[in-house]
Amino acid sequence: MPDGSDGGQRSPDGIDDTPTVACRQCGTEWNLEYELDTLRVGNRAVERFALDHKRHTGHFPDDVRPWIVACESCPDGDEFLTERPARRWAETHARHTDHEVTVSSADGEATTIAPDR
Ligand SMILES: [Zn+2]
Ligand SMILES: [Zn+2]
Repeated sequence: MPDGSDGGQRSPDGIDDTPTVACRQCGTEWNLEYELDTLRVGNRAVERFALDHKRHTGHFPDDVRPWIVACESCPDGDEFLTERPARRWAETHARHTDHEVTVSSADGEATTIAPDR
């Protein structure tokens, strides 16, 4: 029976301050030792992990709120961690396809990018 522990009681030896990332879709949790020790990306470890996870699995891990771009006219779209590549994707897609693209920010605010020619 539950006695108030919220899962934080597993032996913390050595991973005290190593950030962890979980992914519900994979049902796995990782600590970011590899990103910190091998890739040496420091405080961008979570960002780096999220991008690598997306690249290799097609989705972002939990707690990552990406910018989402979605085309209004075709099934194309993508997700990005920051605004700049999201907008660039939208503008490029609009430019080449003449489609309108919706860009949704991490806080859920949506803008439409229209073709500009
Ligand atoms: Zn995953
Ligand atoms: Zn399109």
